[in-house]
Amino acid sequence: MSLFSVSSAFSLLPFLLLSSVLASSFTQLEEDQIQRFQKYLQIRTAHPNPDYASAVAFLSSEAQSIGLQTLTLEFARGKSLLLLSWPGSDPSLSSILLNSHIDSVPAEPSKWLHPPFAAVRDAAGRIFARGAQDDKCLAVQYLEALRNLKAASFVPRRSIHVSLVPDEETGGADGAAKFATSQEFRALNVGFVLDEGQASPTDEFRVFYADRSPWSLIVKAVGEPGHGSRMYDNGAMENLMDCVEVVARFRESQFDQVKAGIKAVSEVISVNPVFVKAGTPSPTGFVMNMQPSEAEVGFDVRLPPTVDPDLLRKRIDEEWAPAIRNMTYQLIEKGPIKDIAGRPLATPANESNPWWSVFQQAVIASGGKLARPEILASTTDARFVRQMGIPALGFSPMANTPILLHEHNEFLKDTVFLRGIKVYEHVISALSSFPANSP
Ligand SMILES: [Zn+2]
Repeated sequence: MSLFSVSSAFSLLPFLLLSSVLASSFTQLEEDQIQRFQKYLQIRTAHPNPDYASAVAFLSSEAQSIGLQTLTLEFARGKSLLLLSWPGSDPSLSSILLNSHIDSVPAEPSKWLHPPFAAVRDAAGRIFARGAQDDKCLAVQYLEALRNLKAASFVPRRSIHVSLVPDEETGGADGAAKFATSQEFRALNVGFVLDEGQASPTDEFRVFYADRSPWSLIVKAVGEPGHGSRMYDNGAMENLMDCVEVVARFRESQFDQVKAGIKAVSEVISVNPVFVKAGTPSPTGFVMNMQPSEAEVGFDVRLPPTVDPDLLRKRIDEEWAPAIRNMTYQLIEKGPIKDIAGRPLATPANESNPWWSVFQQAVIASGGKLARPEILASTTDARFVRQMGIPALGFSPMANTPILLHEHNEFLKDTVFLRGIKVYEHVISALSSFPANSP
């Protein structure tokens, strides 16, 4: 007899129960892992008031349930950094470090399909939450991969550390920057670092071997004020417009290489105007018959590690904001641009780097495909460890996933999240087993 031939509500109950079981093809462990991910996403770690205390309490208790050592550090008041450790069998070898930032950018709930801190999982398995991709998935995936490895009685040769850091989304100054130069970090003897990458819309995982360095450039032009009707040389606005024109031409020369397919966006210097401040205010807006004596323009500049920063500094000095045209400028270089040995902040993503080979083979062994290694167009905490001369790759195993970091309706599919755990099991076990005669 078919279930469908029974029409009473009471008799339908077993069918409904059966269908809810059938709807999930996940094991109990996998369902638990998804739930732990949702729990972490529900902790409000978005700026401007990230709840680091609750996040650290949650992650510590998960780590302890797995049997990892935990240590809470605080390099700035109220901004906890959680360090987890699984000691390796050979303490003379350098260790591996898995990094993930706890904080995330804010969200505008009214523009989301589901509340951004509810971690709603829809019928298609999409888990909606701020931080789902960037990058709270990583912390839970690292932990769950370690849980699975512990359960499988895996013994790491190299020590495995996980750093869960604050403050990445505001520049990392009170998080990874201070951690990477600390005594506690030195004591870890880190040989290789994995940090966040980005989702990939194709079935290939993306991997990043460098970040672009962000600079803020503010150019100020001054000049004699004058009547709005007068034509004269060297006015503040005229000088500022010259600057904007020169910068626009440079921007075009870079952008053209991208449009022609010669370079990726992250391989050129990007320069974008972000504000212009000029004019003499009046109660109704601006004084219209007067040329102002001061004008300012701000640019967001991003440099790939392949360019010489000194050449750009020279260009700014001589062409973009020449003193001879009554211009001054302020250049704020956010974070390092070279490592302690004076090398560009890029990790070799080829056979010359044994860590790369181990990483690449492990991803393939997990059934994954890797896209051509890229420079990240934006910035991550990885630059602070690269600055210490330590190789670091940016990697978030999210294939077939739209790139939604910092966007409305950020989500990660449950299947993609779970597959990431498997990928990390392969990657972590391979890296931590890396032979003794290597660095
Ligand atoms: Zn991030």
